[in-house]
Amino acid sequence: MTTLIKHFIAGEFTAGDGARSISVTNPADNQPIAQVKCATPAEIELAVSSAAQAFKSWRKVAVPERARLMLRYQHLLKQHHDELATILAKETGKTFADARGDVWRGIEVVEHACNIPSLLMGETVENVANGIDTYSMIQPLGVCTGITPFNFPAMIPLWMFPLAIACGNTFILKPSEQDPMTAQRLAELFAQAGAPKGILQLLHGDREVVDALLCHPQIKAISFVGSVAVGRHVYQTGTQHLKRVQAFAGAKNHCVIMPDANKQQVINQLVGAAVGAAGQRCMAISVAVFVGDAKAWLPELREAMANVRPGLWNDAEAGFGPLISPQAKQRVLGLIAKGKAEGAACLLDGSDVSVSGYETGNWVGSTLFSGVTEEMSLYREEIFGPVLSCMEVDSLAQAIALVNRNPYGNGTSLFTASGAAARQFQHEVEVGQVGINIPIPVPLPFFSFTGWKGSFYGDQHAYGKQAVRFYTETKTITSRWFDDDIASAPNMTINLR
Ligand code: NAD
Repeated sequence: MTTLIKHFIAGEFTAGDGARSISVTNPADNQPIAQVKCATPAEIELAVSSAAQAFKSWRKVAVPERARLMLRYQHLLKQHHDELATILAKETGKTFADARGDVWRGIEVVEHACNIPSLLMGETVENVANGIDTYSMIQPLGVCTGITPFNFPAMIPLWMFPLAIACGNTFILKPSEQDPMTAQRLAELFAQAGAPKGILQLLHGDREVVDALLCHPQIKAISFVGSVAVGRHVYQTGTQHLKRVQAFAGAKNHCVIMPDANKQQVINQLVGAAVGAAGQRCMAISVAVFVGDAKAWLPELREAMANVRPGLWNDAEAGFGPLISPQAKQRVLGLIAKGKAEGAACLLDGSDVSVSGYETGNWVGSTLFSGVTEEMSLYREEIFGPVLSCMEVDSLAQAIALVNRNPYGNGTSLFTASGAAARQFQHEVEVGQVGINIPIPVPLPFFSFTGWKGSFYGDQHAYGKQAVRFYTETKTITSRWFDDDIASAPNMTINLR
């Protein structure tokens, strides 16, 4: 019998009554490993009303007490790190090392949420006018919701609910229907950490559940991470319903390679950044831009990529796992075929790669193209597979102009030995997260995850101080106390005697 994934509604774990269910499959062979029922309208309503009810008391809980919940949660997540990584690896196909990293990057956000008392500090100016003081305090919004993608089933939910809840909100998480098992375990551990009933709700399902949440009058804020089309839909629908929305969307990340860079460093870092997690990272490097003579390194890059192969999650020698679904595989194979048809040179083709004994899995091997141009589908579309497209330019200025013409702005990196080149790049490039000799510059949680342009809709980003601003309102108080208050207050007069 297949496992039934559970929602977490009003403090109870329940498989629910949904008539429609979705199969969760092992991407290595596409065999079902679990079933998840889509939440019904009644279940969604119960989750929202329970979260709204819980907000009334949770917002009053002392801030250090909220921090203590996060401390206990962080401890439990660390205790269950390998268990969580195993669940995650089985449902995503990620290698165990990569799955551990996914969980770890989430734990780091919980650690950041443990600092909530300092993060919630307001501002004060004494004597803004004679005898008048102004001070601000930061208050939670109410019920917030998070809609997450398949590719980081631990890290991305943990970007959202720990900080939202530490700020005093209650939260409804709608994880990806493609890998919902990790989210269930995250919720179980949160309950085990002592989370009061109702502050976290977990609802499974797909677009119908999302659309119900986007329009629900009791939901104040929506955090979304996923594809461009859905991100735009979530942003437009959510804001139309007058909600606060942050929507993190797709990407096309360029790595610019100067000829003075350390060749071996470049090759090692580029291979991992392009094909790690089978390229299913929003910060994956999918375009390598070789400046001038750096293009001479292409044969060695090809050799290094050819040495990295996909495999099962528990194969310690595997560089990456399968793609998440047969549809994802077909999309990537289609783009590889288009790349060839549109005239790019395919230096390494992973289209026919498979893993012995698991031939029905969603495998695609490392794939390398050179001679890619801006008009080609390989460049225009987010591939989300282990495919690296190489382009050539004559100067750093041309490379920066190329990156800036791209509609996305999630991440980019530059490899160079020149401080002046690095300074020019970081100053001029129109991308929100920049790595200098670092291929995937994902900031740690005391900063924020600051994608730009078509990779992000909204203004306040995930985690760091920006997330605290996103999940709160600022109340500014201006106060004056008259000297004669003391004399005119009978109780005070008595007490003062
Ligand atoms: P997706 O957009 O298909 O799904 C994301 C979420 O939206 C899921 O929970 C899904 O159930 C829901 N959803 C799907 N279709 C919907 C619809 N029509 N209406 C309403 N809701 C819908 O994304 P995915 O394939 O799970 O994730 C991969 C994408 O996420 C890639 O494009 C990747 O770049 C992006 N991503 C971006 C970031 C970032 O920080 N910018 C991080 C991770 C992933």
